[in-house]
Amino acid sequence: MPHGLAGGRGDRPGEGRVPAGGQAEHRREPRGHPAVRGDEHPHPHAVQGRGGEGPGRRRQGQGSPAEGDRSAPRSLSESRDRVLENEPVPSASRLPYVRTIHRGDRGEAVRDIQHRLLDFGLRIEPEELEGRFGPSTEEAVKAFQQRRGLPSDGMVGADTWGELVEAGYRLGDRVLYLRSLTFQGDDVRGLQKRLNALGFDAGREDGIFGPRTAAAVAEFQHNVGSASDGIVGPDTIGSIERLRPAVEGPSRAVVREAEYIRHIEEKQTLVGSCVAIDPGHGPDDPGHVGPGGLSESEATMLIAEDLAAELGARGAHPSILRTRDDAPSPSARALAANELGAAVCISIHLNGGEPTAEGATCFYYGTEATYSPAGQRLAEVIQEELVALMGLMDGRTNRLTVAMLRETRMPAVQVEPCFLTNPTEEAMLTDPVSRRLLAAAMAAGIERFFGSVESATGPRSASGSTDAGRSSAGG
Ligand SMILES: [Zn+2]
Repeated sequence: MPHGLAGGRGDRPGEGRVPAGGQAEHRREPRGHPAVRGDEHPHPHAVQGRGGEGPGRRRQGQGSPAEGDRSAPRSLSESRDRVLENEPVPSASRLPYVRTIHRGDRGEAVRDIQHRLLDFGLRIEPEELEGRFGPSTEEAVKAFQQRRGLPSDGMVGADTWGELVEAGYRLGDRVLYLRSLTFQGDDVRGLQKRLNALGFDAGREDGIFGPRTAAAVAEFQHNVGSASDGIVGPDTIGSIERLRPAVEGPSRAVVREAEYIRHIEEKQTLVGSCVAIDPGHGPDDPGHVGPGGLSESEATMLIAEDLAAELGARGAHPSILRTRDDAPSPSARALAANELGAAVCISIHLNGGEPTAEGATCFYYGTEATYSPAGQRLAEVIQEELVALMGLMDGRTNRLTVAMLRETRMPAVQVEPCFLTNPTEEAMLTDPVSRRLLAAAMAAGIERFFGSVESATGPRSASGSTDAGRSSAGG
């Protein structure tokens, strides 16, 4: 794009017309008011931060210059410096202490959820509005979860609540810039989409305002003759909205990632590559427990150790993201994988359900609107090897938006090789020999991702795993 298409005076926070309510910090409690845990939070309002004003019910037209974000940096380099100075802070994408709200609940929290669902364009029966969580609210929650790549259980827990909050942000609601506790939401996703469509490289359209998005903003500002401060306020948004992309087509982020897959297949090998392995759960969070007493946290660690040995034998550099005594948050694990510069990230969980439920499932980052092609490719090859080599039932590949898949910068998958609640599959995990075979199947899939090895099964069959089904993430 040519220079000088639009003049601009920059977006010093406070100069604009940002409504005060749009500044709400919904990701953490205000300083000096530490978060309380568990049921002490009567409803999600308690986690919305300043004044309890969430994006779903913004006050309009009350903004004034004095109410701008005083903590915003003055320039991109200043925000970069701040990120470097500060301890790496996980992006707190999900709050762990929100009580789950479900069918049968009543009250203010339900009313808030309903308003957010209505804002999202979903339908709720009039007699349920004003705070009664009935069948149509449950259906609306399920539809929302499906569209946002969440397990579709109809209940509002921490993940669904976080997505409802993020879905409420529109570009322009708040000033965006790079900070260590990253801005997340649909306003960021909208910004990334517009920048990518205009030919700037904002990276994956994941709704996280990270360094790559900030760099794309600065590049855009430079191109339109504004101060390249990387701060997205009313002026920058105005410039972006005045410029329509020449051609509407597939997202450039998706195209770029598809090119990246070709690069990996042609240029990169598993030998010498770092593979981040995340054994799901931890000492205080056992996850599912099998009928024989094996916990998901222990089983994922055993699989991770076998997988690391398999990958090491194939010349890779595996790195396990937790120890037996340690349970970092998913965001902290994603950050660790990023800092390792891992080529791929494998998060291991186990499914749970009825004793007869069985089979393997692989998840990759995606919603109905966007997905990671490289993650999908990695999920498919691992899934194929698990099914072919272990004879496991094919639970297919699916999209999911958990932090490990969304906040990692490399192709990432969540592998659920089997059901821990199935006695036969639990026995497979308890037996060291079959567990090693399971790890070898996963390693074979990872090796195929790097393009150096043909499938053990020959060409992929027409009935192979596809993205047509959508099962819930049980792990
Ligand atoms: Zn799990």
